Amino acid sequence: MRPVEPKRIGVFALQGDVSEHISAMKNAVRSLGYEYEVITIRNKDELESVNAAILPGGESTTIYRLLVNFGLYDLLKERCLDTKMPVFGTCAGMVLLAKEGDEQVRKTETRLIGLVDAKVRRNAFGRQKGSFETAVEIKGLNEPFPAVFIRAPAYEKSWGRAEVLSTFRNNIIMAKQRNVLVSAFHPELTNDIRVHELFLKMVEA
Ligand code: GLN
Repeated sequence: MRPVEPKRIGVFALQGDVSEHISAMKNAVRSLGYEYEVITIRNKDELESVNAAILPGGESTTIYRLLVNFGLYDLLKERCLDTKMPVFGTCAGMVLLAKEGDEQVRKTETRLIGLVDAKVRRNAFGRQKGSFETAVEIKGLNEPFPAVFIRAPAYEKSWGRAEVLSTFRNNIIMAKQRNVLVSAFHPELTNDIRVHELFLKMVEA
């Protein structure tokens, strides 16, 4: 099954803040006047049917295992590489999309999907106590964005084709590489839909 009209954005519904992403994306679609359906992805047919996908936050090892168990891991990688399907990874999603991991990634035997030329550090701002909200500058947005960090990762370095869109305390917290967008924070947990709009414009481009 190949993408059908109207275009579809899928949110992986394996673990994490799925419904928040769905409503933020629906609001962004409405505000830009695009005609996209927003669906959840739990199986291969659903993944095959979307034009773009969101990999929400949660716990990266768990999401990795669920992707493998649901038979979605290879297909996701294939679709991002072969058909250049746009994908947006937030928080744990950002971890999984990096090319290089840290000690925690190695210990938990998490195989990163590896689409962004960057090295990730899980829980870069500490664990539960490291959760906070702060306004950050993002390339492409005129006004600062209210970024919510929850046991957030960060990219400690990037190279090659990765384009850094935002940094905070010397860490990369948002980046883009061709069809892949990642953020260490949770744009779906605020009422500000500008980051979802930014992703939608990548899908539409
Ligand atoms: N700390 C989690 C991890 O590294 C990510 C947290 C989140 O997605 N909110 O997997």
